[in-house]
Amino acid sequence: MLEVRGLVAGYGAVRALGGVDMSVAEGSVTAVLGANGAGKTTLLRTVSGLLRPRSGSVELDGRDLTRAPVEEIVRLGVAHVPQSGGVITELTVRDNLRLGGLWRRDRAGLARRVAEMYELFPPLAERRDRLAATLSGGERQMLALARALTGGPRLLLVDEPSLGLAPKVVASLMAVLRRLCDEDGRTVLLVEQNARSALSVADRAVVLDLGSVVASEPAATLAADDRLRHAYLGF
Ligand code: ATP
Repeated sequence: MLEVRGLVAGYGAVRALGGVDMSVAEGSVTAVLGANGAGKTTLLRTVSGLLRPRSGSVELDGRDLTRAPVEEIVRLGVAHVPQSGGVITELTVRDNLRLGGLWRRDRAGLARRVAEMYELFPPLAERRDRLAATLSGGERQMLALARALTGGPRLLLVDEPSLGLAPKVVASLMAVLRRLCDEDGRTVLLVEQNARSALSVADRAVVLDLGSVVASEPAATLAADDRLRHAYLGF
């Protein structure tokens, strides 16, 4: 579904990605792992059009997104949940959710998708009229994910959802990502420093080091590879 080829990207003199190749199959969870500064966030930002690559290409179903405007990339079904979520704390849970799907013309569809999010994340249903500022870290991350889903994306880019959350909360978020693939046929590209959690739900994993792919394997193969785990994944 997603084909990344020879992607080079950076910031000024910093070359954050040095020619990354990667494929993501439809309906799968692909984890992007690696240490701080490996280029994981840069990869997501380049796929969603927030950062233009210096060279290389990003294709979705054979369509070149490399120079497409961000709004077109969103319309084609790509949603990006940034690190720390980016929910709007001054708005209620409900309004945050509505915002995620506001760009779609189909209003009845939006109401239906918001209702589906309350089913998927019951704590959000209980807190729908509260300001997002009152939510816990885990609830905010749920809201960020749910907001992206109200746009009905096919490809969800999720940047370190586990950051700062308790293990139990992380486990339930990971389970939701798995369900989105298994039950709804969505595709997830999951950036994580928490390699163990990410590998527990991923089908495949790509390991980045200093902007290059050092491994691309089925998740179970990577989890069983002591050398790679010790060298790059910290467990
Ligand atoms: P982290 O887990 O810390 O977010 P990461 O793997 O996501 O790490 P990136 O954030 O993609 O890594 O960073 C890759 C490289 O680009 C690093 O050397 C980083 O310092 C640099 N970098 C990232 N953002 C910027 C920026 N806005 N300006 C300059 N350099 C940047």
